Amino acid sequence: MSLMPVDQALEIISQSFSRLETESIALAQALGRTAAEDHHAKLTQPPFDASAMDGYAVRAADVAKCPVDLTVIGEAPAGQSFDGTVQPGTCIRIFTGGPVPKGADTVIMQENTDRLDESTVRIMTGTEQGRNVRPAGNDFTEGQMLIAAGTALTSRHIGMMAAANIAVVTVTRRPRIALLSTGDELVTIGDPVGPNQIISSNTLLLSSLIVENGGEAIDLGIARDTVASLEQKIALLKATDKVDLLITIGGASVGDHDLVQKVLGDHGLTVIFWKIAMRPGKPMIFGDFNALPMIGLPGNPASAYVCAVNFMLPALHIMLGRPTPGAPKSIALLAHDLPDNGSRQNYMRAHYQNLADGSRIVTATPRQDSAKLSTLAQSNCLLIRPPHAPKAAAGEPVDILLLLP
Ligand code: AMP
Ligand code: MG
Repeated sequence: MSLMPVDQALEIISQSFSRLETESIALAQALGRTAAEDHHAKLTQPPFDASAMDGYAVRAADVAKCPVDLTVIGEAPAGQSFDGTVQPGTCIRIFTGGPVPKGADTVIMQENTDRLDESTVRIMTGTEQGRNVRPAGNDFTEGQMLIAAGTALTSRHIGMMAAANIAVVTVTRRPRIALLSTGDELVTIGDPVGPNQIISSNTLLLSSLIVENGGEAIDLGIARDTVASLEQKIALLKATDKVDLLITIGGASVGDHDLVQKVLGDHGLTVIFWKIAMRPGKPMIFGDFNALPMIGLPGNPASAYVCAVNFMLPALHIMLGRPTPGAPKSIALLAHDLPDNGSRQNYMRAHYQNLADGSRIVTATPRQDSAKLSTLAQSNCLLIRPPHAPKAAAGEPVDILLLLP
């Protein structure tokens, strides 16, 4: 098989997924979930003209010339209204969040007043009409669309929806992604690490990426590099409730111990493509395992991660109904020269910085070893070098993929 160009691979994978079914949940449970439909305000906020300050609610005309003495005829703390009308020459004491009464149109902040006695206040400095009053509906009005379908709900969205009395939210079901690591050398974190062993860090690397992006990760554990062990994991997968995507890690190459394609193939895997024209990540597999989409990631952590960001993330976002699937793209200016690129699209681990003038500069990490987690952890973007890109000089613009958060 020849190497599949990255864009074509992404196109094929994207077409294999569609949005999952929806469910209704309590707003309190909705953090990180994806809205499946537009959500509208159930009330108007603020519901009445509200004071933005502690002070006095006055008629602007009365404070056109200051100082002026006004008669204090009542009070409106938050949660309580003054039911009378503010007539010329009068005012009421008001507090932040308190309803501005009929007749009044302006609030004078307390600091600009002098309370002479129980019933008189001296307004030292006036202000323009409407100042320090939040008009009804200033924030949003009943029926207004507040959250668009496809929005990933953050704490800020949830706060706004709470204020709008949206107690129940319709969200897309969390995509369930099963992770199967393969390798005789791997141990689960927390277990004793033998002399020739390493920890299966990819399991947590990828499950964290899945959870960060609104999915649910199901850890199928580690298969040894034997047919029997892989078959045992296939049985475990079959016994697992509703899986939307299978990710295997490692064993995707052509080594003697790379059994994933062979064993899964014996149990119903159709390989849709194998090997992508990218670096790192060339040996990635995409297939159909008995109607379950399957991505076979290479084992090296940076390779696994780069492939997951490029292909698993869009799949996950499409299943969630997010409007722009995948990691966001941006442009940054190179902080240093780069040599010309080979025939595969190169994803360099890199770090960008925003400059005061609004531009971005990007620095590739010095060693692009796909086994290195320390440089991956320091990166906040992937610097994209297209196939056959000529050498580039410091200051030239390049495409980057942002790694969020
Ligand atoms: P493989 O693709 O199986 O040839 O693995 C390539 C490299 O990635 C080897 O050095 C493996 O030890 C390493 N590797 C494979 N799976 C994992 C994993 N789950 N976590 C960390 N490293 C891994
Ligand atoms: Mg292996």
